[in-house]
Amino acid sequence: MVDHIISATWIAPVRPENTVLSDHALAIKQGKIVALLPLGEALKSWPEAPYEHLDNHLLTPGFVNTHTHAAMNLFRGMADDKPLMDWLTNHIWPAESQWMSPEFVRDGTELAIAEMQAAGITCFNDMYFFPNIVAEAAQKAQMRAVVGLIVLDFPSAWANTSDEYFDKGLQTHDQVSSYSLVSTAFAPHAPYTVSDKPLIRALTLADELDIPLHIHIHETAGEIEESNARYGVRPLERLSQLGLLNPRLLAVHMTQLLDAEIESLSKQGVNISHCIKSNLKLASGFAPITKLLNAGANVALGTDSVASNNELDLLSEAKLAALIAKGLSDDAKVVPATQALEMLTINGAKALNLDTVIGSLEVGKSADIVALDLSGVATQPVYDPIAQLIYSCSREQVRQVWIAGKQVIKDGLHTRIDTSRVLALAKEWATKITSTNTGNE
Ligand SMILES: [Zn+2]
Repeated sequence: MVDHIISATWIAPVRPENTVLSDHALAIKQGKIVALLPLGEALKSWPEAPYEHLDNHLLTPGFVNTHTHAAMNLFRGMADDKPLMDWLTNHIWPAESQWMSPEFVRDGTELAIAEMQAAGITCFNDMYFFPNIVAEAAQKAQMRAVVGLIVLDFPSAWANTSDEYFDKGLQTHDQVSSYSLVSTAFAPHAPYTVSDKPLIRALTLADELDIPLHIHIHETAGEIEESNARYGVRPLERLSQLGLLNPRLLAVHMTQLLDAEIESLSKQGVNISHCIKSNLKLASGFAPITKLLNAGANVALGTDSVASNNELDLLSEAKLAALIAKGLSDDAKVVPATQALEMLTINGAKALNLDTVIGSLEVGKSADIVALDLSGVATQPVYDPIAQLIYSCSREQVRQVWIAGKQVIKDGLHTRIDTSRVLALAKEWATKITSTNTGNE
């Protein structure tokens, strides 16, 4: 017996590659996919099982957001149209030092999870203060998350010293070992905010715990200049000397890369989180994803936070990533829709070391599934469902979402999150932040 059967007009399982199955069904038991087979066979095998057919819908694996700072949803639209260092040092960091608390992180993260689930994102990789609270919020909302054990050289509301960042990070790692949907990564913020000793310690611990290492790298040209002046080498060279460049590393941004760096990153198996919208908005440059993909690198997608985006919508990131790669390379063939779908799903899973659990609709994997309704005027007729997904769909077409077999979005509505409460809290925070921030400019 299986718990339930979901069928749809089209299923794009991502593995095998470039495949669309018509009138197939997924059989789900205890949160896992136990069969993917023609609908008729499924109904014959399990005639008693609860069964749902989604006509004119496309099923895909849940989207994997490989880089965000979820709680920053409470800063959406607070400081726009500023370059990165001005934005960070004059707006975001002062606001964080004033408002950071477990309550801020809980309310902001819940708002972000609500936005992500509705957009088909079923897993997010977070880097923020109070990762213990992020983990609690995710598990409670039936959301898969990798929480970053943040490390910084300077004090915050979360930790005062380097030792305290590590102690609290390790406590969080122990805490989430009993959470079915949450795992951890070490998350030193960036080469310009973390010195050598804590970088080496984060690498050593990530190796011991067998978890990813999540870090912003080569986000802007200014970061390279500063590193050259301070350390005499580019940030990547410094990280290479410290031993950080390996398949454990998830390097976020990477807008400034030399051809030789692209070659060596790809050889070393470094994973890239491409945050195209955040990079565009902060005018930081472009990650050379066509060259990275051609060199064999694993390129996944990230939204970054809504403070620099301003939305957690990975499907629109995939479309933009594909279009900009084509435009920059003068070649319409690069980043085809099937590759964009892989960047949305399996590449993200691989970057987070979760590709045995999620990223494709295969037997044995978790039932993390998105159903998009293609019946409307914006998405008909359908010749190629994967191209339709990347080039025509928006998050408005996401109608049903399951995480580990449990439905979190049903007919476009949340089942796990009380959105009216979350929205009321967001408004309360904005009122408080606005009342004290006047005169900040
Ligand atoms: Zn970021």
